[in-house]
Amino acid sequence: MATAKDHLMTATKYVYRFSEGNAGMRDLLGGKGANLCEMVGLGLPVPPGFVISTDTCREYYRLGRELPDGLMKSVRSEMAVVEGAVGRRFGDPAAPLLVSVRSGSKFSMPGMMDTILNLGLTADTVRGFAEATGDRRFALDSYRRFLQLFGKVALYLDTEPFEEILKAAKESAGVASDAELDERALEDVVERFERYARSGPHAFPDDPWEQLELAIRAVFDSWNNARATAYREYQGISHDLGTAVSIMAMVFGNSGWDSGTGVCFTRNPASGTRELYGEFLANAQGEDVVSGVRTPRPISELATEMPAAHTELVRHGQNLENHFRDVQDIEFTIEHGKLYILQTRSAKRTAMAAVKTAVDMTDEGLISKEEAILRVPASDLMQLLVPLFDEEAKQRAVEEGRLLGRGLNASPGAATGQAVFDSETAVERGAEVILVRPETSPDDMPGMLRAAAVLTSRGGITSHAAVVTRGLGKPAVVGCSDLYVDLSRKLMAVNGTTIHEGEDISIDGFTGEVFAGRIETIAPDISRNDALIRLLEWADGIRRLAIRANADTPNDAAQARGFGAHGIGLCRTEHMFFQPERLPSVRRMLMSAGHVARLEQKIEDARVELQQAGGVSAEIEKDIREAQDALEGDAESLAYREALAHLEEYQTADFSGILRTMDGLPVVIRLLDAPLHEFLPPLESLIDEFATARASGAPAEELAEKEHLLEEARSLRESNPMLGHRGSRLGLTYPAIYEMQVRAILAATNGLKAEGLDPRPEIMMPLIMGKAELVALQTRLRTVATAMGHTLGKPGIHFGTMIELPRAALLAGELADHADFFSFGSNDLTQMTFGFSRDDAEEKFLRFYLERGLLPQNPFATLDEAGVGRLIRIAVEEGRAANPRLELGLCGEHGGDPQSIVFCESAGLDYVSCSPLRVPVARLAAAAAALGEREKDV
Ligand code: PEP
Ligand code: MG
Repeated sequence: MATAKDHLMTATKYVYRFSEGNAGMRDLLGGKGANLCEMVGLGLPVPPGFVISTDTCREYYRLGRELPDGLMKSVRSEMAVVEGAVGRRFGDPAAPLLVSVRSGSKFSMPGMMDTILNLGLTADTVRGFAEATGDRRFALDSYRRFLQLFGKVALYLDTEPFEEILKAAKESAGVASDAELDERALEDVVERFERYARSGPHAFPDDPWEQLELAIRAVFDSWNNARATAYREYQGISHDLGTAVSIMAMVFGNSGWDSGTGVCFTRNPASGTRELYGEFLANAQGEDVVSGVRTPRPISELATEMPAAHTELVRHGQNLENHFRDVQDIEFTIEHGKLYILQTRSAKRTAMAAVKTAVDMTDEGLISKEEAILRVPASDLMQLLVPLFDEEAKQRAVEEGRLLGRGLNASPGAATGQAVFDSETAVERGAEVILVRPETSPDDMPGMLRAAAVLTSRGGITSHAAVVTRGLGKPAVVGCSDLYVDLSRKLMAVNGTTIHEGEDISIDGFTGEVFAGRIETIAPDISRNDALIRLLEWADGIRRLAIRANADTPNDAAQARGFGAHGIGLCRTEHMFFQPERLPSVRRMLMSAGHVARLEQKIEDARVELQQAGGVSAEIEKDIREAQDALEGDAESLAYREALAHLEEYQTADFSGILRTMDGLPVVIRLLDAPLHEFLPPLESLIDEFATARASGAPAEELAEKEHLLEEARSLRESNPMLGHRGSRLGLTYPAIYEMQVRAILAATNGLKAEGLDPRPEIMMPLIMGKAELVALQTRLRTVATAMGHTLGKPGIHFGTMIELPRAALLAGELADHADFFSFGSNDLTQMTFGFSRDDAEEKFLRFYLERGLLPQNPFATLDEAGVGRLIRIAVEEGRAANPRLELGLCGEHGGDPQSIVFCESAGLDYVSCSPLRVPVARLAAAAAALGEREKDV
């Protein structure tokens, strides 16, 4: 009677003949196996074979690395079918069948797992193989290849001794390559290889069936080798999938000059051009192409060398591409003029090729516009928008040992130039320099504006250096922890190499790599990339989210508009305050702001007192008069007003420029946010300056000025500036600043309207924590707006708030009553929700968290849906419930991250706002996100 176990065993199917599978069975047969089956179904010339399923691999691990019962029995019966098809028997000493045993999981993991070729050759069968092929040298060559590969993969032998033996043989024969070794020399190599293979801890099996079993185990084991595990971790592929094993009759590209092997792509994977692209080697096996022993030749030469095989290859390539509706990467072998296809898969390609092939294939009617959008990973578009290193030049730099270290790839693009270590030198020397700092601060702005790129040893991807450079579209590598920057000696040291000021370095903002010396860059030009322009137009027709840009200058605004931004979602006004010609006025204003605020407070307090005294008190009235006189006439108040007026002039021109560039589109202007002390020179340098001035007997007036600045800087210093006197707190305590900004916005608006333009400013409050704050600001600013001839709030000038604090998100319902729009400041919202400093966390501990799996991804790069996302959803729901006309956007760095855009789509936001360079990325990502949501609805 059959037991339950027997039943289970008979029910389990481990092995699938190529004719039994198809391309839809990738989960079970792996990508390679499933495609081999599909090709057989299409009638393509694939050598006969079968696939052991990924289920079997999982079972192998479940059983503690034991092959399941019945597997080898099934393998033997499938081998019999292959024997029948080829007309040779496995292990037959007279004319043996040889097979390849290849790994292949659901997702392509190129080169990570193991494969064994020429299996079936033993000391016995190699003689028969030589006779059957009539080529003893070829048989010995195949055998030595088998011994080395099997020894390494299945017996875990060190490959070094194999290499040594081969090297010694070439030396004594006086030849340069393996291919030149004659029969005698190979005989000797084989003998020594055998001896070495038998000397290891694992017995070398003479029986080909035992070899086959060990090879299957070895391929299963290679699923968990260190390379494959690391690759899966990097790519986010599950460790539980397991690999399939394809077993296929060998065909021999090394059986003469009418044979060969190669790899080809149905379109050029670098440019996307429609041409058969690739290379081949005559009289060779696959590993010769990879190992670089001989230089492969372009596939076009196959047309003259083996025209019939070439014609077949073109035909099959075309069929495969049409069938899979994607560019194929094909491995082939030609044996005595007959072509065999050994593998096909979707080709990996550059962003340029991805865009071109997606658009071309849509034109050719092969795929739909929707598919074209989903074919191009949105983040890859960055490759098309910024300068890149010439890949060959970069490779040479690596080979020359010029790669110094790695940091975080904070802002994409490649840059090469002299290293400079302070902002002033960057300004002096101009655009061809890379500004290197331990970290950057607003003081470095002039240098950052001028330099080609920025490199820092500290900071994360939302640090000052990262945010500013992304906004400017300049490459940056930040948080390069191996980098030591010595500002006083003007040098940097990385892993033993020292670079002095003026010496060249290069940084790759795509990868975070830092190099010594120059590397050539290539400039992009998207206006000539018709395919990209068309793809983005299709995306615009599909996406629901609007795309705005974070831009602080007319130039940025123009670039953003050129890239298709539908307005500005965040204009950070503090960046305007950092320009060198304005800083003196900003400092003057700050130095006196406390004085003015105190006088205003005094007047207000006295008025309350007067009221309490019944409206009459000569003494109080005198106090009020004195304070008013001071406010109107004392030197400090005058200087304050003068500085404010000066800034107002600048700001009016700034806003006018941006609003003109964005004519007819919304421009959200956020009032000043940065902590005030950021505008003052560092305290230490003020102390030094004051001491030096005093020691050198500087005039009293100058000394007083310096002392005042020092006192002011001391009083503005905070231990926790990110949680301190910034954002709306600033607007409430120093109201004149926000009032000045609103006047400037509205003056610019009035000026443009008078010209007949259509400026659409929107005014946004930063770092709001609750309704009382918002209402207080709104009340004050409404008065200013009225005086300028406007109403604040819809249908007048839209008034809204950022949501950057968890409290604001949780109280969104009551804020929405007083706001026309919310904009989620996901940088601060992430910082405040996690309690992670956005300036320090990445460098200090976030990498550790990511490596240990304590966090799935960097929450400053990809929005944390579980926590931050939940707050956003609450704010969306409660905000809209209170104010159905509330407009909702997101303007943190996540606005340009495709995965976060998927979240924004699902949360029902109206727009995302990102740096100008990321606008095309966001357009494409938003369309892909909309397609994903549509799919969910089906
Ligand atoms: C934010 O906090 O997400 C934001 C956009 O403001 P900033 O980065 O200027 O603090
Ligand atoms: Mg913020």
